[in-house]
Amino acid sequence: MTDVTLQNVRKEFDGVVAVKNIDLQIPDGAFVTVVGPSGCGKSTTLRLIAGLEQATDGTIQMGNQDVTGVEPKDRDVAMVFQNYALYPHMTARRNITFGMKSAGDFSDEEIDRQVEEATAVLDIDDLLDRKPGELSGGERQRVALGRALVRDPEVFLMDEPLSNLDAKLRIKMRAELAKLHSEFGTTTIYVTHDQTEALTLGDRVVVMNDGRIQQVDSPQRLYDYPETRFVAEFIGDPAMNMLSVDISRDGTEYEAVGPTFRIPLPEGDGLETAAGAKALLGVRPESLSVADSADRSSFAAEVTVTEPLGDSLLLECRTGDQEFKLHAEPRTAVEPGDRVALTVETERLHLFDPQTGEAIYHAAAAESSERSGVPAG
Ligand code: ATP
Repeated sequence: MTDVTLQNVRKEFDGVVAVKNIDLQIPDGAFVTVVGPSGCGKSTTLRLIAGLEQATDGTIQMGNQDVTGVEPKDRDVAMVFQNYALYPHMTARRNITFGMKSAGDFSDEEIDRQVEEATAVLDIDDLLDRKPGELSGGERQRVALGRALVRDPEVFLMDEPLSNLDAKLRIKMRAELAKLHSEFGTTTIYVTHDQTEALTLGDRVVVMNDGRIQQVDSPQRLYDYPETRFVAEFIGDPAMNMLSVDISRDGTEYEAVGPTFRIPLPEGDGLETAAGAKALLGVRPESLSVADSADRSSFAAEVTVTEPLGDSLLLECRTGDQEFKLHAEPRTAVEPGDRVALTVETERLHLFDPQTGEAIYHAAAAESSERSGVPAG
């Protein structure tokens, strides 16, 4: 186990800046997930930590050692890739033990014990005599995971390791990975484009976009306090709705005003500076609900699409020229074309700067700070 620190790390490939001067600190024993859209630089970041790519600028440190120029084989890391690189002529067992045998650090008994442990967890103990060509994609991926597990490295680096598994096995393996991490506590850096995987596995989640780190936070804080519009829209499915509003102020009362609605904003940091300007009002689909009857705080919208999801009814709606989604009660009797009155859970609203995309206000911060008596930070 060790901590990993990236300082001002940049990676350029002829003309393409894949990673733009990132700083990242991964504590000893953490399970950190790195998530972002395709091409945002996740894999390159991981490959830089592995030593498979050399940084154009900046330093990478593991524990007290600067490993920036160190060969991959001399960094105590084990990597599991999206496309499991197994030796086709070797059995699964030999593929798993290959690194251990060549390192020569383990006795035969130790190797047997570790293989037994890892393959039981991965549910591949009865496949060990087969070669990769005789295994399904999912089984091959589990062999690749087994190979990383038995090496017992300081740091695990995983690049979409579950992406070739079917949905059911993916969920099972996700739980197994979490269990393995809580047992062994090995520092793990896990790249995925799947936000569910990132949130469920990571105790800290790094959100990247366009070669830059947008936010590093716990899963719940990312969801509750996104620092940018990008994070707000990337984390959560369906994405957070963004409505164009003007912020009006009347004494100590603030409202988000759109062409067809006025939504009161609970007091909180950022409102004073936002007053009198345009903003994007961030509303999660679960913060909106269909009201039984219209009142002062509700607003009218037209339903354009209904999608029954079983546990909720997803509605696409329009008010003026703005479109948004919401989760309604599952058996709500509405059809496309209906007009409905909607209410908003105002304690969960957010405001973003329309130009920079930076968050300027979170209603929930105001709520919790009021309760604890501590000013919102
Ligand atoms: P994905 O989820 O699709 O794997 P990613 O977030 O892992 O994407 P990277 O593979 O890190 O993204 O790529 C980041 C950027 O760097 C992309 O624009 C990619 O085209 C570019 N890139 C990556 N490797 C190379 C390379 N060897 N040569 C040139 N450009 C590269």
